Order: sequence, then structure tokens, then C-alpha cells
Amino acid sequence: MRITRRDFVSLSASAAALVAGLPRSLGAALPRNAAAPTLAEFGYGDVSVTSALHRAQLENTHDVLMNLDEDSLLKPFRQMAGQPAPGADLGGWYNYDPDYDWHKDDAGFAPGATFGQWVSALARYHAITGSQATRDKVLRLNRLYGATIGGGFYDKNRFPTYCYDKLVLGLIDSHTLAADTDAFALLERTTRAAVPHLPVAAVDRELPWRPGKDQSYRWDESYTLPENLFLAYQRGAGRRYRDLAVRYLDDATWFDPLARGENVLAGKHAYSYVNSLSSAMQAYLTLGSSKHLRAASNAFGMLAAQSYATGGWGPDEKLVAPGAETLDASLTATHNSFETPCGAYAHFKLTRYLLRVTGDSRYGDSMERVMYNTVLGARPLSADGRAFYYSDYNVSGRKVYSNHRFPCCSGTLPQVAADYGINAWLRDARGVYVNLYLPSIVRWVRDGARCSLEQSGDYPFADTTSIRVGTSRPTQFVVRLRIPEWAAGARIEVNGERWSGAVEPGRFAAIRRAWHDGDRIDLELPRRLRLEPLDSRHPQVMALMSGPLVLFPIDGAGERAPPQRAELLLARQVAPRRWEAQVGPAPLTFLPFVAIDEEPYSTYLTLG
Ligand SMILES: [Zn+2]
Repeated sequence: MRITRRDFVSLSASAAALVAGLPRSLGAALPRNAAAPTLAEFGYGDVSVTSALHRAQLENTHDVLMNLDEDSLLKPFRQMAGQPAPGADLGGWYNYDPDYDWHKDDAGFAPGATFGQWVSALARYHAITGSQATRDKVLRLNRLYGATIGGGFYDKNRFPTYCYDKLVLGLIDSHTLAADTDAFALLERTTRAAVPHLPVAAVDRELPWRPGKDQSYRWDESYTLPENLFLAYQRGAGRRYRDLAVRYLDDATWFDPLARGENVLAGKHAYSYVNSLSSAMQAYLTLGSSKHLRAASNAFGMLAAQSYATGGWGPDEKLVAPGAETLDASLTATHNSFETPCGAYAHFKLTRYLLRVTGDSRYGDSMERVMYNTVLGARPLSADGRAFYYSDYNVSGRKVYSNHRFPCCSGTLPQVAADYGINAWLRDARGVYVNLYLPSIVRWVRDGARCSLEQSGDYPFADTTSIRVGTSRPTQFVVRLRIPEWAAGARIEVNGERWSGAVEPGRFAAIRRAWHDGDRIDLELPRRLRLEPLDSRHPQVMALMSGPLVLFPIDGAGERAPPQRAELLLARQVAPRRWEAQVGPAPLTFLPFVAIDEEPYSTYLTLG
């Protein structure tokens, strides 16, 4: 990530200017005082993702969730409510065990913690596919859950705000995306049961707030609550959710200093504090509070400065101090970097909100980098709860399942998979933004005409993406294409003719015309190989990049003689997902993250 912090500090001013130009149709549904974003999201049902890699993740997670036993899913809720709890334990973190000891036990760390995220993901799948069986499962799970609601769940739980936050999301998505007409009533009962057992305001991690509890009770994430509470308010659940959201904004120790440009990231728990930046964005979008936009955009710049070339961050789940040796040390000291599904989920939401507010395409660049180099290459979720957790940036890295079954990342992977479509395409009153290049179709209606754009191609394993326009009659709109910052020499053709408008790396190219059915856009993004240093203190520690892709050397690259810069830059793409360089006497093979299976790999190489 070579986006400087200064670039992002300057964004808040331009965001305010962009908001002023928003067409009334997009702002109409927003509550008073809200800051209307520049870009809007499509509905889940407006986009169909056809990319095989993305679809495989969607189908895998959907299958696993649809087949989870419902008694097992409800078991911790029933046990903690003192009700009969038939059926097998689901296992791993999901179990309830009153005698759980975090020093030695795996099963029982976070009982019921992922339930709300799974209901949310199922509601999103229903909205994407229209599947009645999926909606039925959502409605059934919500009713079964409703029979268990009570304070005992929160009183006995190590993570009362974490669980409440996820339940809020499951219920508001059930309301909006699966038309569960009882969802807001269940949300009201959930909130009444939960609030007496939550801290009165945001509590920073590691601070004790409940007497008589061990250290593991200090890892709750109350500072992430406002995002979904603001969304509950925006979707009509009532004013109390706005007020609750405001109560949990972590201003004093986190958003206030970030808004002033103070880097207070060092030592913070990585995923949850990055996730809390989405709460700052929803505070801005709901209340018009520019301080929270400044906090989020400043923090994003600080995060970018401490990210790996993959776009991931957080060695050993910690954010690091600027200029520290921590990143370099992590390449040999740990195998536990970037909490991949959770971190990607937080990163995608944050960059989507920032992109919507600022219109700055570089947030899309960041999203793309994280997508292709981290979560899209995650091992699939397995029915017995094995889940991909950490990306491994060690010089002898491996792609492995977590030791824990049904961890936090088993809750976020299904949500990441459901959101690929709404992250890829965005819109404003003038037209459509192509934010992520992946085979998919978006459909909408404009001036009574049915319009669609369909992407195809093998990007980023090839240079080109094609977009076919569909319209029921000729229609004027703007198609904006994200030109990544690395894409010098990018070019666009419309119906086979070179398009003469501005194509600038780091911006959207805006093609405005009356489109006809069958029109075709071809985008070429030349993926020249380049080397990116780990950080400015380690200019010899380099990742080889092709476009947004990190190329990971495999087969014991770390044990060979150090490569020369020129040797790496002469690497050739020998197959769609395989590169080779000649390093000294022997060839060295590189794979993108999505193509790595059992091979040991490195992320960085130290140049000779
Ligand atoms: Zn996780």
C-alpha cells in the first residue's frame, strides 16, 4: 500500500464538497442531519457474480450455513437461558461451557457469537438468489432464537456486546433483505434483554468492566457497536438505536485523537479497532459528524502505511507504531498475521463507506488488493467448523486452517462472500461505477429503460476486462471505470474504437454517452511487474507485484541465494496463475494467493 497518509488527510475537505452536489433522489431517504454520500450501493439482488472464484466462496459458505443443525445453533442460547437444549454441540468456540478455561480449552470461548452473522449472511443470500429455502431458514432461526431471549445469555457470556452487535445485524438484515416482519420486534426484545448487561459506554480492550471476571472477559468489542445500531436506526427500527449508537462511540481515546491526526494505532487489537472505523463512518453518514469522517480517513491512511503488500495488516492481531521494526520482525517471528475473513470484512466495509463518501477510487484499489491477496484465497469453510483465520507472511508461510473450530472468522467469511457483488458495482444519479473487476452482471432501471452491464475476462490474471452493455432502448448514462494507481498506460475502447477521454491512474475514467444494447467497453490495465518494499526502513525486503496481485515465491525461496532486482522483474507469466523467474542458476516459481494450496511460500524476498 503506497498511499500516503497525507493523501487521505486531504480527503475530508473534498468529501464535504462532493456531498453538496448530491442529487436529491439519493438523499431523500436519509434521516435529517445525515451526510448524503456521493455514491450509493446497489441492492444485493441487483448484482449476480459469475466469477468462478467468487461464486465458489459464496456457494461453499451458503451450503455450510444451510446445513448447520438448528438445535445445535440454538443450543448455547437455550443452555444460557436455562431451557432444555437438545441436539449435539456445534463445537469449537460456539459451545457454551460454564467451566470453560481460556488457558486450556478450545470449545466454549465465544458461545453463540457467530449466530447473528450467519443469519445476516443467509438474509443476504436470499436477497442475492431469491431462494425461498434460504428465507425459510432465516425466519425459522429467528423464531427459535426469539424463544430464548433473556439476560442470562449476556450475563454468562464473555462477549456480550460482540454477540449483541451480531444479533442486531442478523435481525436488521432479516427485516430488510428477507422481509421478516417480526425482526424489529425481536430486535426490541433483544435490546431490552442485552442493555442492562452491557457496559454503559465504549470500553477499550483489556480494561476490566465486570468485577470478578478473568482477563478473557476484557476482550469484548463494545467500541464496534455503533455501526449496526446506526444502520438499525436508518432502516426504521427507531430513535433509541441512534441514541444507543451515540453512547458507544469511542471518542475520548480513539476517534478524537484520530480526527486530530494523532496516530494512536500502536498496540490496538487489529480487527476490532479497524472494524470500529465503520462505526465512525456510520456516525458521519447518520449524524453528519465530520469529526468521525476525519477520524476514519486519517486512520485509514495510518493503516495503509503499516500494511503488507497484500493489503493485510495486524501481525499477531496488533496494529503497530509508525516506523517500528514490528513488520520486519513479523516475517520470522509469527505465522499469525491479518485475521483474514474478519479483517477483510472490516476493510471492505470501511473502504466502501469511504469510497461512497469521497468518490476516491484509491479506496477501491485498496479493496481490490485485499480481496485478491487475502480472503479470496482463504481455505473454504468446512461443515465441522474448520475455518481459515490468519494469513501467514512468514518467510516459511503456509495456508492452514485455524486450530479453533467455528472461530470469529467462520462468521465473517459468509458475509464477505455475500458482499462481493455490492462491493464491485456502485452508482450515483448519473450512472454506474465499476469498482471491482470481476465477472458479474448488474441490472437497474433508468428512465424506464432496463439496463445492465456484464463484465467478463480473466483479470487480474490477464490485462483486460470487457463490459457488455444491455439496454431495452438507447439510454444516456455515465459508466465510471476505476483506473488503479499502478495502471500506467491504461486504455479504453468503446465498440472497438480507442476512447479519447481522460484515463488517469488513481481516478475513475467517466464514459458518458447514449448507450445502445450490445455496446461494448474494453479496458486494458497493463500489469507491469514491480517490486514494493515492506516499508521505508527495509528497502531490500520486497514483494513482487503484478497489478493488484502479490506473487508469492514457493518452494523454499528463503533458503536460496538472494535474488537480484532485475531477475525478479524479468519473471514471466507461464500459466494464468503461475509465474517463473530465473534466479541465479535455477527457476523460481511464484503463485498468486488464490492458487496456493499446500506449497510453503514466502511473501517477501530480501534482495541481494
Ligand atoms: Zn476472525
